[in-house]
Amino acid sequence: MVVLNIADLLQLASSLRGEPGARSGAIAARKRRGEFVTILYSLSLEIRENISLAPFTTFKIGGPARWFAAAAGEDDVAEACKWARQRDVPLFVLGGGSNVLVADGGFPGLVLHIAAKGVEQDGNLFRVGAGESWDDLVQRAVENGFAGIECLAGIPGTAGGTPVQNVGAYGQEVSSVIERVRLFDIAALSFLEMSAADCQFSYRRSRFNSADRGRFIVTRIDYRLRPKGAPQLSYADLKSYFEGRPAPSFREAADAVRRIRRGKGMLLVPGDPDCRSAGSFFKNPSVTHQVADRIRAFAAGTGTSLRVYPGEVGYVKVPAAWLIEQSGFAKGYSQGAAGISSRHTLALINIGYGVGDARGGATAAEILALASEIADAVEAKFGVRLEMEPEKVGF
Ligand SMILES: Cc1cc2nc3c(=O)[nH]c(=O)nc-3n(C[C@H](O)[C@H](O)[C@H](O)COP(=O)(O)OP(=O)(O)OC[C@H]3O[C@@H](n4cnc5c(N)ncnc54)[C@H](O)[C@@H]3O)c2cc1C
Repeated sequence: MVVLNIADLLQLASSLRGEPGARSGAIAARKRRGEFVTILYSLSLEIRENISLAPFTTFKIGGPARWFAAAAGEDDVAEACKWARQRDVPLFVLGGGSNVLVADGGFPGLVLHIAAKGVEQDGNLFRVGAGESWDDLVQRAVENGFAGIECLAGIPGTAGGTPVQNVGAYGQEVSSVIERVRLFDIAALSFLEMSAADCQFSYRRSRFNSADRGRFIVTRIDYRLRPKGAPQLSYADLKSYFEGRPAPSFREAADAVRRIRRGKGMLLVPGDPDCRSAGSFFKNPSVTHQVADRIRAFAAGTGTSLRVYPGEVGYVKVPAAWLIEQSGFAKGYSQGAAGISSRHTLALINIGYGVGDARGGATAAEILALASEIADAVEAKFGVRLEMEPEKVGF
C-alpha cells in the first residue's frame, strides 16, 4: 500500500482529470501507480475513446467520436469544455441525436452528450435539465393541465435541443413558452443566463444555430406554461381530427398529435423504418411574394392545390413537401439505402437491413447525395434552394 498525502493525491487526480478511460481520480490514480491508494477526490466525467455515434442518433448513421463523454450535470459540462480547450480538440454537443447527420468518418474531437436531468416545478414555471426527454416533459405538462406545448407532443430529443432550432409543430413553437435559458459559454468558460428575447428566436432558428453556433451549451431551460385555456387547434390536421367531437383536453390534444405523427412516420416507434430519420430533412423555404406568385401560378396551371403560410415581413413560407413532389419525387422514392419516407415526403430515411436492426443501411454520403438530387431538382424547377434542417456533424 502506497500512502500519499492529500496534496499529492489532489495533484495526481487533477493531472489525470478526464484522462481517456479514467472514470474518476481514484481509478486513474490506481491505474497510474499500479497500487491501491485511498483517495477522497473523485470526478464524475468519463472520457471514452472511439465511440460509435450511430446508436446515439435517430438516423442510426455515423462513424465514431474520437472522444466521447456524457455530462450528468453542470460540473461535467465545464470540465469537458476545459478538457477540450487544454487539448485544442473540437467539441460537439449532442442531445438526443434527432436533428443531426453524422459523417461516415465520425467526429475528430470530443462529443459531449448532455444527460443532465431534473424538472423543478414552481406553479406554471418548469425549470428543466437540458438532458430531460422533451416528450416526457410534454406528457407531464398536459397531464397536469398546463397549456402551451401540447402540439409539440411526440417530438423526439432532449429539452436542451428545443431552443436550438426553436422546435415547432402543429401551430406551436417552443419560443412562445421559453422564459429563460441557462448556458455554458464555451469561449468564456463560464455560465450565464439569457432571456427568450436574447435567444433571437425565429422559424427553426435561434442564435444557437446561427450567429453563435457552437458557442453555448444549454444546461437548463425555464418554460412558463399557461395554467388555463384551451388546446391550440389552429393547424388543419388537428382541426379536422376534432371536427364534430367535443372540445378536447390538453392531454387529448397531445394524444391526437402523437397519433397524427405516427400515421406520418414522424413519431419514434421501434421497428418503424419510416422514423429512422431526423424528422423533416428540409425547412419550408421562405420566398418573396414575387416568387410565391410564380409558384401559385404554376399550381393553378397544373390544377394542384397549394397552401402557403405567412413568413417574416415581406416573405411567404412554401411547403417544401409540395415543391419536392411537384419536382418528381414521390413518397417511398429511394436511391440505394437512402430514401424518402413512404408516409412523409419531407423525411429522408435510412432504409435499414431489417426491422429493429440498429445497424441501418445507408451511409451519410448516400443521404446527402439523395438530398442534393432533390434540392437540385427543386431549384431547377422553381428557382428555390431548399435548406437542410438537421445539423451536419464531422463533415
Ligand atoms: C421522427 C422525428 C420527428 C421530428 N419532428 C420535429 C418537429 O415536428 N419539429 C421540430 O422542430 N423538430 C422535429 N424533429 C427534429 C428534432 O427532434 C428536434 O430538432 C429536437 O429538438 C432535437 O433535439 P436533440 O436533443 O435530439 O438534439 P440533437 O439532434 O442532439 O442536436 C441538434 C442540434 O442541437 C444542438 N444541441 C443539442 N442539445 C444541446 C444543448 N444542450 N446545448 C447546446 N446545443 C445543443 C446540437 O449541437 C445540434 O446542433 C424531429 C425529429 C425526428 C427524428
